[in-house]
Amino acid sequence: MSETIFSKILRKEIPATVLYEDDLVMAFQDIHPQAPVHFLVIPKQPIVSLDSISGDDRGLLGHLQWVASKVAREQGLSEGGYRVVTNIGSHGGQSVSHLHYHVLGGRPMAWPPG
Ligand code: 5GP
Repeated sequence: MSETIFSKILRKEIPATVLYEDDLVMAFQDIHPQAPVHFLVIPKQPIVSLDSISGDDRGLLGHLQWVASKVAREQGLSEGGYRVVTNIGSHGGQSVSHLHYHVLGGRPMAWPPG
């Protein structure tokens, strides 16, 4: 996998507002928030997208979702609800080739998405 902006965030070479970090994952605020709360949860392991995972990644994916839910709760999103989404490839609207879950909340979300 080639270098992305998220690799630099993981190495603390560029700043980010980190909401959670452990040895496997990091959650940080999106630089261009699309909702009052908008953060990203990424694995430290360089995985391009959900399309390139293997069976060995199943535990990591569960952990990513656990962190998404934990940080969403801490950000006060439980009562109103929120959206977790991951974009895959060009049709999915993915702009950074490092797997990430968007967590968006603090306003009602439209459906279907554009
Ligand atoms: P994608 O379009 O790939 O699903 O989402 C990439 C997300 O990364 C976008 O929401 C974008 O705002 C965010 N992003 C891109 N560059 C940076 C950055 O340097 N810092 C942070 N915190 N977020 C970024």
